[in-house]
Amino acid sequence: MADTKQAALQAVKGMNDILPASVPRTEKLPDAGLWLWFETTVRSVLARYGYQYLLTPIVEPTALFVRGLGEVTDIVEKEMYSFTDAMNGDRLTLRPEATAGIVRAMVEHNALYNGPLRIWTLGPMFRHEKPQKGRYRQFHQLDVEALGFAGPDVDAELILMTRLLWRELGLVEGEHVRLELNSLGQPDERRAHREALVAYFEQHAAALDEDSKRRLLSNPLRILDSKNPAMQSLIEAAPTLMDFLGEASLAHFDTVRAILDAAGLPYRVNPRLVRGMDYYNLTVFEWVTDQLGSQGTVCGGGRYDGLIEQLGGKPAPAVGFGLGIERLLLLIQALELPVPSAAPRAYAVLMSPAVLPQAMVTLQALRAAGVSVQMHAGGGGMKAQFKKADASGAAWALIFGESELAAGEVALKSLRDPAVTQRNLSLSGVSEWAAELRNA
Ligand code: ATP
Ligand code: MG
Repeated sequence: MADTKQAALQAVKGMNDILPASVPRTEKLPDAGLWLWFETTVRSVLARYGYQYLLTPIVEPTALFVRGLGEVTDIVEKEMYSFTDAMNGDRLTLRPEATAGIVRAMVEHNALYNGPLRIWTLGPMFRHEKPQKGRYRQFHQLDVEALGFAGPDVDAELILMTRLLWRELGLVEGEHVRLELNSLGQPDERRAHREALVAYFEQHAAALDEDSKRRLLSNPLRILDSKNPAMQSLIEAAPTLMDFLGEASLAHFDTVRAILDAAGLPYRVNPRLVRGMDYYNLTVFEWVTDQLGSQGTVCGGGRYDGLIEQLGGKPAPAVGFGLGIERLLLLIQALELPVPSAAPRAYAVLMSPAVLPQAMVTLQALRAAGVSVQMHAGGGGMKAQFKKADASGAAWALIFGESELAAGEVALKSLRDPAVTQRNLSLSGVSEWAAELRNA
């Protein structure tokens, strides 16, 4: 007989399965339970700030990112998953970031017609990068945007919101994550700075690496973004944009700072902080950690007042940020911060198949009363069932036996505290002890 066994397939390089905690993971990414907890926390925090949820497609026209992010950015130059739709020849791209798609959608639906909007989304992004810890080809972002707001108040609101999110996740700002802040000014101020920068780098052309020489002609600001250690001292001494900011830009920046100061949020003004997309102006910020090597930025954002017009919309200011979920959860894992348990409260052990119908009726009543209880399925001896009960992490075992059921009862045994004696509970009064199981 022919061997029909098929070779197993593997996920695409740099794209990860996010697995339940009980599945052994070779890729040391946090388990999916942690993701759910993160999402629940995010939803709760964003609701408190009045941000609305939206979803946009993962595939967009390639032109959106070329126009939105800028032709001479790392993302557009070398990181995009672009392809031709075989059916109709359309040029398409798997979104490398969320802002361009959101702005496209808001322009398409004339969403700012009734005034400014606070919105957020969460999902996968795609960049063809060299996979390593904290850097993947499919990764996930939380993306928060405030569209139609011009003032520094909303810049500060977004930053303070991230601080609340850190706190609710157990991260301490200033200790686990640090805030870096800068102002990129306005296009004319950047032009003046750019000219000074080009003159400076031309003066030092011999010290530039290949990448920077290319950037000097196309996008000299990107040189400041270089991660090449040999370039750092040259970059340190380059003229900074701060010296070219006008009164209005400085006032905007000062107000953001005054709000953060009043809120007691420490930050470092980093004049070298530039972002990977061309669309930013005025306030930019990043939350960084030193726990994740060169993948140390967990969250970054800023103001992009020109993008809506650039994508064909009526001119309107905007500000937002993107947060890398893998990096944030890796950080929480590395710091060994306490995370809520996903274990059921109780595990149901069945002493014989005959108890099944009545046991399941009881378990249904418990779940309806808000108790998480996992049923042992598939039979097996008491020893094996208790082993599973222990492994489930449950605090209690509910033991369904024929004689107990005949007496209208079920036994309750603590799986954590041997000092607590086993006792019988009445099946007619489930709602009375359900509350106790929920909490105790
Ligand atoms: P980096 O400088 O590390 O490449 P970036 O400036 O390209 O980051 P952004 O475009 O600002 O990143 O995206 C926002 C956040 O998304 C980043 O701060 C990071 O946490 C996360 N992120 C970006 N690229 C990746 C990736 N390839 N894998 C995992 N997370 C990523
Ligand atoms: Mg990048």
